[in-house]
Amino acid sequence: MNFGIIGAGPAGIFSALMIKEQNPEHSVSIFDGNQKIGRKLFATGNGRCNITNMNAGPESYYSVRPADISPVFEQIGPEAIRKKLETLGIPTVQTEDGWVYPQSWSAANVVQILSDALQYAGVETHSGAKVTGITLSGSKFVLTIDSQGKTKPFDKLILTTGSRAFPQLGANTSILSELFQFGHRDLPFIPALAPVSAKGDIFKALQGTRLDAEVTALRGKEELGSSFGNIIFTDYGLNGPGIMNVSHYISDKDAKDYMLRLNFVPGDLKRQLDTFFYQHINKDYPYRSVYLSVLPGKLIEYFFKIWKLDWETTCKRIDSRTFRVHLKRLENGLIPIEGNRGFNFGQAAAGGIPLSEVDLRTMESRKQKGLYFAGEVLDVVGPCGGYNLTWAIATGLIAGRNAGKEK
Ligand SMILES: Cc1cc2nc3c(=O)[nH]c(=O)nc-3n(C[C@H](O)[C@H](O)[C@H](O)COP(=O)(O)OP(=O)(O)OC[C@H]3O[C@@H](n4cnc5c(N)ncnc54)[C@H](O)[C@@H]3O)c2cc1C
Repeated sequence: MNFGIIGAGPAGIFSALMIKEQNPEHSVSIFDGNQKIGRKLFATGNGRCNITNMNAGPESYYSVRPADISPVFEQIGPEAIRKKLETLGIPTVQTEDGWVYPQSWSAANVVQILSDALQYAGVETHSGAKVTGITLSGSKFVLTIDSQGKTKPFDKLILTTGSRAFPQLGANTSILSELFQFGHRDLPFIPALAPVSAKGDIFKALQGTRLDAEVTALRGKEELGSSFGNIIFTDYGLNGPGIMNVSHYISDKDAKDYMLRLNFVPGDLKRQLDTFFYQHINKDYPYRSVYLSVLPGKLIEYFFKIWKLDWETTCKRIDSRTFRVHLKRLENGLIPIEGNRGFNFGQAAAGGIPLSEVDLRTMESRKQKGLYFAGEVLDVVGPCGGYNLTWAIATGLIAGRNAGKEK
């Protein structure tokens, strides 16, 4: 049988390898518009490739139109991905919080090994080959390649073209309009895992400051979603995993309706401050040192200005009620937002092919027999930490396994 795959990112590469594993006699051709395959994969994890996460499961992900994605994780989860990687010569290591990296800590090595694996398995790889058209010839798919014209007919087609995130790495979604002929629709992509632009004195004062915080995206009073993680104050606004993980809630338009609530003293931190303050209440101990024990200096200097306190203030001058008010302010830092920084900065995207149009047990289209989807082209996005590669690899393997089955 002949198989065509559009898009040689992780989803496409793992589909191709899986088809060949089902039957080495299958003929598999994979096409990518970029000059090199796995271009985005090459850039992942700051070049270190955070390839999966031991905590990844159906509840980790966000979709514009939510659906039950457990059929994917019932078949392939992070443990199975690590085993698969190991068999390909990519052993992995795990950090304390479950983030998984190749033992080489190198995205470049991962791309090279996968590229060699494709060649070794006999997959025909066409780079610099942008697919501009899909036509049906009977029950087979014929592709038009911009540089080469029409392909041979493929019995099955797997579409793994990714999302609009990072066009500078070749992201391109123009092929999705070809799917309308089959009755598919695509939901507009929304940038995710993006920094957020915001204006205010706080950004001048705190530029370069990093800390862990609880971040909640709000529209008016409505809480859209929360995340806990590292945040970084920059000249344009906020960055860091804690911010990126909620950025998809802030669509560019009408961004003025959105706010971020930053809790600088989540959980234990608040209790620590509490204990520390009451140990020093009514004493000549510098009030600033209560906060400096756990929070960055620039942040405390900024809040001292807001609280109209002299830097030399001692705990003696602060009563219990005032301390509570200060803690409340640290829990409720409200930041008006200008917008998320869009596809050029967002590492992933929500939106794309609606999950209702795909059978998530097989990844086959519910609209067109023989057509399969995998990866970020689908309306699924995960947080920072290896969740998006998990999705791309798991769905790629499932699509390849089912497409490659002899029926
Ligand atoms: C800077 C950066 C860092 C990241 N770091 C991480 C990380 O550490 N961990 C993690 O889990 N995720 C990370 N991600 C996200 C992750 O890279 C993506 O979720 C993943 O690559 C999606 O895989 P995919 O195969 O679905 O799509 P992609 O990797 O985007 O691949 C799709 C491919 O399809 C090709 N294509 C599109 N249209 C056509 C067409 N018409 N014809 C031919 N080819 C076409 C594109 O050229 C592209 O190569 C990062 C993303 C970025 C941008």
